Amino acid sequence: MSTSVAIHPAIDAGIKPATPGFGGGTLHCKCATDQVEVRISAQTAHNHACGCTKCWKPKGALFAQVAVVSRDKVQVTAHPEKLKVVDSSATIQRYACTGCGVHMFGRIENKNHAFYGLDFVHTELSDASGWAPPEFAAFVSSIIESGADPANMPAVRARLKALGLEPYDCLSPALMDFIATHTAKQKATA
Ligand SMILES: [Zn+2]
Ligand SMILES: [Zn+2]
Repeated sequence: MSTSVAIHPAIDAGIKPATPGFGGGTLHCKCATDQVEVRISAQTAHNHACGCTKCWKPKGALFAQVAVVSRDKVQVTAHPEKLKVVDSSATIQRYACTGCGVHMFGRIENKNHAFYGLDFVHTELSDASGWAPPEFAAFVSSIIESGADPANMPAVRARLKALGLEPYDCLSPALMDFIATHTAKQKATA
């Protein structure tokens, strides 16, 4: 099996375990000066590789790496004036730096959404080590929509599995069950 399939720069060299008691860090955008800074004051959860067309990916990466954290643990600590929502009609309001294009955090404002209260963040934007590692790969087939060669998909899935990231074409079963449970509860109270 080829290891030349580049999944994501923070994943390709292998996955490091989280540091017990890790309490967060500061995300920086990629501008040379006047970087946007976002302080995350907690460990993240549900970190995963994501192949969807909406998540921010580093240059050349097939996948994004994205995790969630409680929105009250996310604070813009420098240059908030540079942030702009990429697509205000999207479920997740992704705040990108207008200088370098990096997404600093994504927020759900719909209180009825299963993931309301959680912000989406890319922890590789932090210099700190100890963050929760990715656990699975989501929306794998969607990388084709971003230009990946369909013929290469078996190699991509094999590489993800070798890295310990089970590939799914939606979210993981645990998260799909979580969303469906939320939907069922909403129907029961409607
Ligand atoms: Zn920037
Ligand atoms: Zn995504």
